[in-house]
Amino acid sequence: RKYRKTLIAGNWKMNKTPTQTKAFMTELKGLLPKGRWCDIALCVPAVCIPAAVRAMRETRVAIGAENCNAHTSGAYTGEIAADMLVDAGCKYVILGHSERRAMGETDADVNAKLHTALDAGLIPIVCCGETLAQRESGVTEEWITMQIKLALAGVPEEKIRRIVIAYEPIWAIGTGETATPEQAEEVCQHIRTIIRKRFGSKNARAMTILYGGSMNEKNAFELLAQPDIDGGLIGGASLVPEKFVRIIEDAN
Ligand code: PEP
Repeated sequence: RKYRKTLIAGNWKMNKTPTQTKAFMTELKGLLPKGRWCDIALCVPAVCIPAAVRAMRETRVAIGAENCNAHTSGAYTGEIAADMLVDAGCKYVILGHSERRAMGETDADVNAKLHTALDAGLIPIVCCGETLAQRESGVTEEWITMQIKLALAGVPEEKIRRIVIAYEPIWAIGTGETATPEQAEEVCQHIRTIIRKRFGSKNARAMTILYGGSMNEKNAFELLAQPDIDGGLIGGASLVPEKFVRIIEDAN
């Protein structure tokens, strides 16, 4: 753990208005522990980014987006480019979340977005994870290996440290059913092995790997105590300031 950063990142999904964002951030600021803590990020709906950035200026909470387009600009009505997110004050962007993959996003899309995000200077949080059927049929490792290889295709060695990977078993997202610390550790360790083989042991040791899937203030401590789990990507529990702060405290 001493080789890498711990990151607690929230994923608001399609929740909260800009007005609610302002109220949430004000409350969060009052609750944040003082002193040196882990890296903290909140990935919020695009229209909430300005309010979130404004509220969290001069705090240690970074703001992120939940998606970006693979193109740098042009005729893509309704889409948002990585450069625009940077200019709006974002540091992170979630890519390849299973909910977006369910809307038709492919591994190739995730890879193209990853390159665009890196070029723009964003830190991509790349998601991977298996379905319950895949877990039960014993193909989890193979599936994760394929997702990671395709997502990271063409990434040069000097850029790998600017990427965060999140392991999010689909059966654990929004279901209240968390992976056991052992199940989560097993896959996060496997991901680090994939990185080691492709990018070397120094980069593997430095990479921040998150677990996500019904992580909350009750189960975070045990999950974060695992050697290869360097933080969390938190959906539901990131919508409530008290819960999010409790998880941050457990990450120290
Ligand atoms: C997520 O969507 O990234 C997630 C982990 O959601 P939840 O914590 O609500 O399961």
